[in-house]
Amino acid sequence: MRNKIVAGNWKMNNDFFETKTLLYELKKHEFNNSVTVMVSPSFTNLQQSVEILSDSKIEVIAQNVNESEKGAFTGEISPLMLKSIGVSRVIVGHSERREYYNETDKLLNKKIKNALGNNLKIIFCFGEKIIDRKNKKEFEIVNNQLSKTLLDVNKTDWKNIILAYEPVWAIGTGENATPEQVQEMHLNVRNWVKINYGSKISDIVPILYGGSVKPNNSHEIFSQPDVDGGLIGGASLYCDDFIEIINSF
Ligand code: PEP
Repeated sequence: MRNKIVAGNWKMNNDFFETKTLLYELKKHEFNNSVTVMVSPSFTNLQQSVEILSDSKIEVIAQNVNESEKGAFTGEISPLMLKSIGVSRVIVGHSERREYYNETDKLLNKKIKNALGNNLKIIFCFGEKIIDRKNKKEFEIVNNQLSKTLLDVNKTDWKNIILAYEPVWAIGTGENATPEQVQEMHLNVRNWVKINYGSKISDIVPILYGGSVKPNNSHEIFSQPDVDGGLIGGASLYCDDFIEIINSF
């Protein structure tokens, strides 16, 4: 059986005080015990979040990491820096970073290898744009993204990978993919992993869906056989909505 996971992507929202308030609010709630819950505050709030959540099962993850171990890269954060404050996972490949910060598949491949090589686990995001879907190229685009970023990852590192299918047209738009669209893509992704890394890995790799997941659609999406949870943007900033989504498994 695969892990059920709900991760909140807080993006560039919430200052020091707002982060604290939201974390204490989240901590007050009982979650469905079988779900692993993660939140990703901004870099400036990671350390306090780790401390606040030290007596909770909620995991703190980062939103970005550099492709090098250390050196003259002003403004950048290395895997070792994250690990030294107790952060053990990072989001890589989010479409906002691909789009606004020119993160190419080639760069993402370096980030993935730098993270995994330093024992920093990842949530790796990928997904097609609306034009790709209109042209019926969503499977080709996604498989191409996976091939260019993940094909040289060591088999032993797959235990540290969570995949997240995030169609770009569904992120922050209020327009989610239908449960059927999500399931057929997740099955395609699992098959890609099976073909390239074997069924032992494809059977256990968690695949999350992200894109306008809300309390009113999470249950149906999470009920699909190849959906193991969600990466939640906007709704994860609201404690009640986030809790409802977690408990909708
Ligand atoms: C995201 O940014 O990863 C995301 C899924 O955002 P939203 O839930 O707001 O669409």
